[in-house]
Amino acid sequence: MPNTPARTAVNPLRVAIIGAGIMGMSIAWRVAQAGAAVALFDRHRAGSGATHAAAGMLAAGLEGEPGEEDLHPLCDASQRLWPDFARELAAESGLELGYRDEGTLSVALSRDDATRLRHDLARLTALGCDLAWADSRELRRREPYLNPAVVGGLISPRDHQVDNRMVARALIEVLGRRGVPVHQDVPVALATAGGRAVGVRTGDRLHEADVVVLAAGAWSAEVDGVPPLARPPVRPCKGQMMALGMDPAAPLLNHVVWGPGIYLVPRRDGRLILGATVEEKGFDATLTAGGMLSLLHAAWRALPGIEELPVLESWVGFRPRARDDAPLLGPTAALDGLIHASGHHRNGILLTPATADLVARCILDGTMPELGRRYSPDRFARPAAKEAS
Ligand SMILES: Cc1cc2nc3c(=O)[nH]c(=O)nc-3n(C[C@H](O)[C@H](O)[C@H](O)COP(=O)(O)OP(=O)(O)OC[C@H]3O[C@@H](n4cnc5c(N)ncnc54)[C@H](O)[C@@H]3O)c2cc1C
Repeated sequence: MPNTPARTAVNPLRVAIIGAGIMGMSIAWRVAQAGAAVALFDRHRAGSGATHAAAGMLAAGLEGEPGEEDLHPLCDASQRLWPDFARELAAESGLELGYRDEGTLSVALSRDDATRLRHDLARLTALGCDLAWADSRELRRREPYLNPAVVGGLISPRDHQVDNRMVARALIEVLGRRGVPVHQDVPVALATAGGRAVGVRTGDRLHEADVVVLAAGAWSAEVDGVPPLARPPVRPCKGQMMALGMDPAAPLLNHVVWGPGIYLVPRRDGRLILGATVEEKGFDATLTAGGMLSLLHAAWRALPGIEELPVLESWVGFRPRARDDAPLLGPTAALDGLIHASGHHRNGILLTPATADLVARCILDGTMPELGRRYSPDRFARPAAKEAS
């Protein structure tokens, strides 16, 4: 991959990216910086998918669930890349990204919670995560409005946050400045010929490309024109969220806080994001009373003062979830010329800098760096597909 004639400045590599979410746009930015001729194609507005819906936590530490140990090196590498990625994107776009480095607290409201968090501490510390136990007094020194019933918890200084909506705006800006076409609100289909991807079709028009990247998030398995064996096993995982309004001059919270069944993410502009439900309901975009109730109740238990705050917004998003909850990155034996970049599930904002670098290297050099190899889309291939390739 990409198995194409050598390209020069006057004859650059042509890259078409399906999906202008944070993945598609950050990959486009990286390959445009390297001199490729890249274009993006989205059937809706750029940045309007999970990229808009997310909470923007960069939680390589606390987010690691049992059974996801293999994903930790990629999450950790991407977390380390975030500060420079944010600085570079802010400088090139001239826009703020709302990057905050106060860190994350995970609080226990009962002895059971505390026991669970102590197990998490042992498990995650063994993986190399930088976590520490804190008693109730220390947690409330950092966040005075936490429920006085907090019995203790974890401090994760390296789990930062970024405003994902501002990141999307900044990516749109840098792509515009670099003259990258972003085709939005158009019907999009992969174009194939002679057993390989040859570009993208928007209605009657064929946009030829040497390499096509499939980065359509939770919709990646449904993009028209993708042959069945090349379709990624990615499904939507619904999340309901809401935002309350704090006084930015006297916010109730400064750290990201996790409590039982909830996370609370304070933005600099005073928005307090509450998230999120995890539901296997396909593309059902209904906001439910039960979803809102569970968020509000769990948030109120951790931070009772939310009772007085106005509700600003509520929304639904779809995490792109693969069969093993890990991303699909790189080429597939099922179709030459196609590169996958999807399946980032609940860590896509965190995984953006690493994904952009790995997939860009794969597009430009034809090889996937070591860190990304275990995420080959072909790990799901049926034996018949492998034999046929
Ligand atoms: C509620 C919620 C909370 C989250 N919180 C966090 C968090 O705190 N931290 C974190 O790291 N991650 C978080 N995530 C996960 C993160 O948002 C995603 O993993 C990430 O945004 C995926 O980016 P993407 O570019 O692959 O997908 P998307 O942002 O969904 O972009 C896909 C794009 O493809 C387009 N598209 C769809 N179909 C087609 C088609 N047929 N043709 C062309 N274009 C198409 C869509 O319009 C969309 O613009 C959260 C997700 C949700 C839903």
